[in-house]
Amino acid sequence: SIMPATLSAISTGAKNGVLFKGGVHLENLSQVKAIAFDKTGTLTNGEPEVTDVYLNPTSSENELLSIIGSMEKQSNHPLAQAIVDYCTSKGIPCNREVAKMEDTSGQGISATVDGTNWKIGKDAFVGEKEARSFHNGIANQLSKQAKTLVFIAKETEIVGLIALKDSLRKDTIEAIKTIQQAGIYTIMLTGDNKTTANTISEEAHIDEVIANCMPEDKVNQIKHLREKYKNVAMIGDGINDAPALATANVGIAMGGGTDVALETADIVLMKNDLLKVAKAIALSNRMNKII
Ligand code: ADP
Ligand code: MG
Repeated sequence: SIMPATLSAISTGAKNGVLFKGGVHLENLSQVKAIAFDKTGTLTNGEPEVTDVYLNPTSSENELLSIIGSMEKQSNHPLAQAIVDYCTSKGIPCNREVAKMEDTSGQGISATVDGTNWKIGKDAFVGEKEARSFHNGIANQLSKQAKTLVFIAKETEIVGLIALKDSLRKDTIEAIKTIQQAGIYTIMLTGDNKTTANTISEEAHIDEVIANCMPEDKVNQIKHLREKYKNVAMIGDGINDAPALATANVGIAMGGGTDVALETADIVLMKNDLLKVAKAIALSNRMNKII
């Protein structure tokens, strides 16, 4: 049977926007020594916007954007939505016929348009060396501004680069600080490239960053962190994050996250409020003292 102190803590949590799916998660949370955070949609708002567009001068800009927009229209990624919105705002129709569309999670998309093969995605997906040297290394400059990079390859040639910026949630910096003050180590997991990831983690004052993290890597990273810190929590919002949430000692989902994340998590933060994590930890510590 559930102890009165536990019941009372669960109820206090619920009143304060933290949903514990059972008393055991309150006990586990008080033992946590490290917390891993997904980047997009967890530390950031998850609403990227296009900030810079570099296209090969030999190609027609509208033609190229129309192919890019038509391909991204078939993807569910937040970056895809932002790119389609950008094309639409420029009055560029995204209605080209797209064949053999493939969406590679954490990497990018590929398809055929009018018999030509296109790839849109991260540097490693389109060709790392070619991508990095595009426009005299502009990629590095954009990454240092914490922008996410999406390269466009026509067959094997890089013909474009789109940079997008997603801002930190307004409470991220304070939430990280409070969590660290509770003696907990913080780690950011992201599929983004190293330079972009480092810049964002510096903005948020996160202790450690693990970049170029494919969805399946997130699980391995959590396993690794568990070996090192014993009790580890993971916070995320995406379908991608669900296996990592299940692997952590405590899985925490952002309330606005996908259904799979909400179902898999042990704790749900209503209103996407990261400050509630620190509150939940304090609550779990109080409860464990009483027990
Ligand atoms: P995050 O960890 O920040 O949520 P993802 O793992 O989803 O990022 O994606 C990693 C990288 O893969 C992105 O930064 C982007 O460069 C590329 N990418 C993934 N999906 C797409 C897409 N639909 N269009 C363009 N680029 C994509
Ligand atoms: Mg996410």
